[in-house]
Amino acid sequence: MTHQDILKACGLTSAELSDGTLAVRSPIDGAEIARVHETSADDMQSVIARSVAAFKAWRDVPAPRRGELVRLLGEELRAAKTELGALVTLEAGKITSEGLGEVQEMIDICDFAVGLSRQLYGLTIASERPGHKMTETWHPMGPCGVISAFNFPVAVWSWNAALALVCGDPVIWKPSEKTPLTAIATHKIMMRAIERFGADAPEGLCQLVIGGAAVGEALVSSRDVPIISATGSTRMGHIVGPKVMARFGRPILELGGNNAMIVAPSADLDMAVRAIVFSAVGTAGQRCTSLRRLIVHRSIKDDLVARLAKAYSSLKIGDPREAGVLIGPLVDKGALDAMQKALSNAKVEGGKVHGGEVVTSGVPAGAYAAPALVEMPTQSATVKTETFAPILYVLTYDELDEAIALQNDVPQGLSSCIFTLNIREAETFLSASGSDCGIANVNIGPSGAEIGGAFGGEKETGGGRESGSDAWKGYMRRQTSTINYSSKLPLAQGVKFDI
Ligand code: NAD
Repeated sequence: MTHQDILKACGLTSAELSDGTLAVRSPIDGAEIARVHETSADDMQSVIARSVAAFKAWRDVPAPRRGELVRLLGEELRAAKTELGALVTLEAGKITSEGLGEVQEMIDICDFAVGLSRQLYGLTIASERPGHKMTETWHPMGPCGVISAFNFPVAVWSWNAALALVCGDPVIWKPSEKTPLTAIATHKIMMRAIERFGADAPEGLCQLVIGGAAVGEALVSSRDVPIISATGSTRMGHIVGPKVMARFGRPILELGGNNAMIVAPSADLDMAVRAIVFSAVGTAGQRCTSLRRLIVHRSIKDDLVARLAKAYSSLKIGDPREAGVLIGPLVDKGALDAMQKALSNAKVEGGKVHGGEVVTSGVPAGAYAAPALVEMPTQSATVKTETFAPILYVLTYDELDEAIALQNDVPQGLSSCIFTLNIREAETFLSASGSDCGIANVNIGPSGAEIGGAFGGEKETGGGRESGSDAWKGYMRRQTSTINYSSKLPLAQGVKFDI
């Protein structure tokens, strides 16, 4: 399919694709594919006002009925999976299977949220006073602003939107300025679901705003948007988090990672190599959970590095739409420059670099690079910094405690894993004194999370949780109620106050 065929199949009209102020380029060849219209500051005020009005109606629609809307969204996504997946490939540069996988993730979270719409459970709590009962109830919170990153251009919206909608919250989405087309296409899919759902869905329930940081800032600074779920760099989180907190809003921050794998002497190395290659070079190293640090036992380091170098040499780099290609482009030239800079800094810090070259032959005109393996003498400043590219730093250890200390000694705390067949090592890694990350795996890589678990991480990753488990509580307000069904008015803690 050509660019135009994909855009047409996703229902994007020429009016939406031309004459705007925001240029959209495909990472595949760097060519401009559209000029979309940005949302103005004035428009932001009316978008937020519509969302506030929508909340007043949506919060009273019963949660299982709200779940029906998300069920319909899942149906529409199933019907549109092929073309939306192709658009993710075109606009974000993911290989075909990963583009489709991203849409599948959206479908999965819809299924999860439909079930959740009948399970927004509260509590009954034992009261210390006779004839009294305590309860805890979860209520809708208000408009939820979703600010998303380029590398999961549509799935991140769905993790938030599917939950927010069943929780009774309208959604305003500001996608990355690098990937507005997938957002426009997804918004149309959402509108089809709303159309089928009928009059219970108020106008303004799901809105899309287009632009860069200034458009995001309008959401971040508005007291009418109590929840801001922001996914992106730690740099962005440093700005957004404090601004939301300053107005006592609720930030859900999903920021950068610097994910490690510990490979112990007992590890199944065949499995480890497959896991390492997928998580270090998949999506060209542009997942928040990409494997960036390998902490390998000294006794097996040379063997493992040799196996990885062999595996890396067989990886096909090129147009992500071509069968057999496993490494597509970086998002743009800036990302390629950042990769080259990190590699030269690592060399200065004593690193031995294998691969990592800029690739220009046999690929389209985008920003392509060979994945790099870098043997490092220490965990230097460069290793502690997230570079959003396929660079894997290799460090060695002698004792497990030392490996865990290295794993935790970075500012980020998203994902982590250990390859070992030793149950003591595995359980130590998962214990309170083990990995300090939001995600800790055994015998699988750090990337490719399922939607059933809560997703997010600690420290500079921001502390937010999205997706499965009880992450839905982040989209609701908790109310504690005490009900007195007696004819007396006893006070708690035995306090006497007779009048
Ligand atoms: P980015 O920080 O450049 O942009 C992310 C989003 O934030 C964009 O929509 C951008 O317009 C917006 N933004 C930037 N400054 C803002 C401001 N001051 N106010 C409001 N909005 C603002 O990130 P990116 O390059 O698109 O994505 C890559 C980064 O995202 C990596 O660091 C990666 O680890 C991280 N990421 C994290 C997760 C996670 O779940 N933890 C998931 C995906 C990506």
